Amino acid sequence: MSDTLFSKIIRREIPADIVFENAHVVGFRDLNPQAPVHVLFVPREPVPTLNDLRHDQAELAGQLLLAAAHYAREQGFAEAGYRTVINTNADAGQSVFHIHLHLLAGRTLSWPPG
Ligand code: 5GP
Repeated sequence: MSDTLFSKIIRREIPADIVFENAHVVGFRDLNPQAPVHVLFVPREPVPTLNDLRHDQAELAGQLLLAAAHYAREQGFAEAGYRTVINTNADAGQSVFHIHLHLLAGRTLSWPPG
């Protein structure tokens, strides 16, 4: 599988503002934040898109969601609210092909998204 920018961040080869880390997931601030809080949760195991996620990798998806919810509680905005998003392929604007969960918070988020 090809190496990605996010694998390089996980290996600390490229700097990033890492705010969460456990055995499965690394979370770091988005370089181009779309809200006062914008963190990307990335599995250590590189999966290009949600389309590529296999059934035997189901725990990986759960770990991403749990990491985001843990971070929201820890940072104190879980009750106020937040949004989690996975962009998949061109129509959703996916630009890095290492699956990642966006967590957006800190302002009222409109719906539907653009
Ligand atoms: P996507 O568009 O694939 O769903 O999300 C990729 C995200 O990665 C974008 O929001 C973009 O701002 C962010 N990003 C791209 N390059 C870097 C980088 O080098 N460092 C960090 N921290 N974020 C990045």
